[in-house]
Amino acid sequence: LSSKLPGGKTSIFSVMSTMARENDAIDLSQGFPNFETDTRLKELVYKAMKDGHNQYPPMNGILELRQQISAKIETLYGVKYKVDSEITMTSGATQALYCAITAFIHSGDEVIVFKPAYDSYEPTIKANGGKPVLIELKGKYFRIDWQEVKEKINSRTKMVIINTPHNPTGTVMSIEDMQQLESLLKNTNIILLSDEVYEHIIFDNIEHQSASRFPYLAERAIVCSSFGKTFHNTGWKMGYCVAPEELMKEIWKIHELTVFCVNHPMQRAFAEYLKDPENYLSLGSFYQQKRDKFLKLMEGSKFTATPSKGTYYQLFDFSEITEEKDTDFANRLTREHKVASIPVSEFNIAKKDNKQLRFCFAKTDETLEKAAEILNRI
Ligand code: PMP
Ligand code: GLN
Repeated sequence: LSSKLPGGKTSIFSVMSTMARENDAIDLSQGFPNFETDTRLKELVYKAMKDGHNQYPPMNGILELRQQISAKIETLYGVKYKVDSEITMTSGATQALYCAITAFIHSGDEVIVFKPAYDSYEPTIKANGGKPVLIELKGKYFRIDWQEVKEKINSRTKMVIINTPHNPTGTVMSIEDMQQLESLLKNTNIILLSDEVYEHIIFDNIEHQSASRFPYLAERAIVCSSFGKTFHNTGWKMGYCVAPEELMKEIWKIHELTVFCVNHPMQRAFAEYLKDPENYLSLGSFYQQKRDKFLKLMEGSKFTATPSKGTYYQLFDFSEITEEKDTDFANRLTREHKVASIPVSEFNIAKKDNKQLRFCFAKTDETLEKAAEILNRI
């Protein structure tokens, strides 16, 4: 057997969540909320089922939902995506990312990825014969060194992948970052894949800088988002991507082959639910409260942190506690202390001496209190 992904392994998210279950530990590892999605949304899904929306919807999604997404993007980011040809519903952002990479990456193409990086980018690039070019985010605030990006771009560079707000570091890209990127990509054929699944989970009055806001980025960008993150239902696996028509046509070819179309009654429900912008605009302050609560609860501990600016993750440095490798410490923390987290070295970073763990704070206050009580005793 000749593996397409030699060395590929089970995602750290499944590994740690399974370990949490097996050890009866508080699970702050995989990124999902431990509270319920809105009852109204569930009722809307049931209503759509009762109303008979149970067969294949259009390949790119139902018109009503694409209209809502188009209106949302226009209001928030000031750009209009064509409802018929530039918006596609996908099975979570994961499938959008897969389609985008598979549609454009040929054997030998280079793709610039910033690390730490979300775990699906690199294997998807490799499965398509592409070459990930990994650039490390720099310093305490995990910033992009644009000079280094400039040096790494060459005639083989086919794509750049960005993720803002960023998993796992909780950093966000600034206007200046996006302008730097614009000046590097302008007048090239390089495609931008912009993973914006946490677009609504952003704190401290910072504005999300979607690639779609910047004309020279938008003309080459595939922007991905996730309803699972936004509406507390990661298990529904609903997301979407938007891109200029020329790019979307290619994405459709892969979308048709992978799933063809996605869950119909849920699309009906989201089309209705998106009519009230409060349903997503309230998300930043909702999670900011959780971030602040968790940080406050951890103040007396030996874990140290730079506050997350977006996403529902907080990195904590544990170098005052142990010399162990992050994977070893995360395993021991789960097995012995009953709190599960994600070791950051699993996000493609070469540094084996990483001393940071990622904790997901999309949890009830009670869960955060219980976890922090344990972590304070370590
Ligand atoms: N990108 C990032 C950065 C993520 O953290 C995740 C995990 N939710 C995804 C993509 C995948 O999103 P989805 O669950 O909608 O497939
Ligand atoms: N995005 C989620 C996280 O970072 C996990 C998604 C998955 O399990 N693949 O934890």
